[in-house]
Amino acid sequence: MNFKDKISRYFSYGELVLYRKDNNPSRGELVKLTQLCNNFLDHVRDVFGKTIVTSGYRNKKYNKAAGSRDTSQHMKGEAVDIYISNIDMRIVFLYIYENMDYDQLIFENVNGKIWIHVSWKLKGNRKSTLTYRDNEYKKYSGGLI
Ligand SMILES: [Zn+2]
Repeated sequence: MNFKDKISRYFSYGELVLYRKDNNPSRGELVKLTQLCNNFLDHVRDVFGKTIVTSGYRNKKYNKAAGSRDTSQHMKGEAVDIYISNIDMRIVFLYIYENMDYDQLIFENVNGKIWIHVSWKLKGNRKSTLTYRDNEYKKYSGGLI
């Protein structure tokens, strides 16, 4: 795959591997990434415009570098982190919560940086919704912001 190869209407392979040459999903992981883009991300892009993937597929090395656990869905091609500028991300979060199917949706707010983590699977989506609170407790809690 080349970075500029489209894997869905809007998203390129490069965007989903963060343009890292040594960050290669397996064939099965690439299938999942492609499904996530076509069934989930393209719709977000249609509704809200330019959608920036701040993290997508991560192999073991990059997952570790991100400080994430080995069970992360980023390592399976099932999760992305997204950011959309010029809009309150809580609106995007609520839109997804109310209108879309997903496995896990997390509103992340870390050191003043905000993004949405979302995972999507072809089957068995749990529709689990969490908010990360970057206060003295630094913990995830269920439900909306
Ligand atoms: Zn994430």
